Amino acid sequence: MAIPFHKELVIGGYLLKQKLLGRKRYPLVLMLEPLFRCNLACVGCGKIDYPDAILDRRMSAQECWDAAEECGAPMVAIPGGEPLIHREIGEIVRGLVARKKFVSLCTNALLLEKKLHLFEPSPYLFFSVHLDGLKEHHDKAVSQPGTFDRALKAIKAARAKGFTVNVNATIFDNHPAEEIAKFLDLTAELGVGVSMSPGYAYERAPDQEHFLNRTNTKNLFRKVFELGKGKKWNFMHSGLFLDFLAGNQSFECTPWGMPARNIFGWQKPCYLLGEGYTKTFKELMETTDWDSYGTGKYEKCADCMAHCGYEPTAATASLNNPLKAAWVALRGIRTSGPMAPEIDLSNQRPAQYIFTEQVQKTLSEIRRDEAAAAAAKHQPQPQASTAA
Ligand code: SF4
Ligand code: SF4
Repeated sequence: MAIPFHKELVIGGYLLKQKLLGRKRYPLVLMLEPLFRCNLACVGCGKIDYPDAILDRRMSAQECWDAAEECGAPMVAIPGGEPLIHREIGEIVRGLVARKKFVSLCTNALLLEKKLHLFEPSPYLFFSVHLDGLKEHHDKAVSQPGTFDRALKAIKAARAKGFTVNVNATIFDNHPAEEIAKFLDLTAELGVGVSMSPGYAYERAPDQEHFLNRTNTKNLFRKVFELGKGKKWNFMHSGLFLDFLAGNQSFECTPWGMPARNIFGWQKPCYLLGEGYTKTFKELMETTDWDSYGTGKYEKCADCMAHCGYEPTAATASLNNPLKAAWVALRGIRTSGPMAPEIDLSNQRPAQYIFTEQVQKTLSEIRRDEAAAAAAKHQPQPQASTAA
């Protein structure tokens, strides 16, 4: 129990400090995507639909460390793509741990067992293994048979070597509550923590049919939590975020709470939505029109209840209202009765589409850099001096 307590203490202290300093906007978790290349092609993924020239790009270890220092968040989550494909991933994680960042390395675990030697167990390092449900459901969600068994084997191998392992599940519309409950039973048997988020309706995901809307999300989570009464599922979420998933809290999104840095730069406004990029974190915070994002404000945010937008809201609500948080912790998640009022969508601004423009811009930069490198290679080399 010592490890999570240490983490909670550090993060609680960080939140308190931001509050005492009167900061209105501050990051909680840096979402660091050092590459977009992946060894899977999940149907609900909105991260890998790029041309090869972009999928081949990597953030260097130094760029990753600079991003963590620039942002200052106490936690760094490394999703992707598949971070274990990055040749410098061991070095990147070592450098972040040395900076006393809590690192959550998100992986589909296909390479985990083979690459465990790159890492050392530490109270600052967590593997977060992508598991979207029990065997049949998971293998279908990631479009590759056998991945569930490999992930399970890797989880056991990592735990045997002393690493802390959690699993993260993305929940879609076709997932029955009873099966999700059985999956959560399995995580408890394995002794791992679990985080869950309704899948964000990525505009580029191959499967557009199974994203949950907000009403379905709340009804589904109510059923799951009802089935979980009396069980010891170990959620890696605040009680108020779970209460929000069950429709008992009217939260607005906090898009700056989990800022994203990737090969394009700092992503506006959040990890899920790429609506433009800045060179620095400061520029991201100062130039993003934050008030124009969130459910009720922007069409692309209409159905979002994802942890990256709402967990920071729940963390702030717990800090501002500890009695409410304690009440939810004591009473458990309410799974019946009226839901909190839903946000009105009638005034949301229409979606804008910049994906193609961003891809073209980055491809031009890549071609320009390659041309400059080729030209430099063919420049005549200066003659070596023969003077003694
Ligand atoms: S493992 Fe993750 S990054 Fe890779 S395709 Fe699946 S969802 Fe996308
Ligand atoms: S609601 Fe918030 S977290 Fe969700 S997509 Fe919109 S800005 Fe991002």
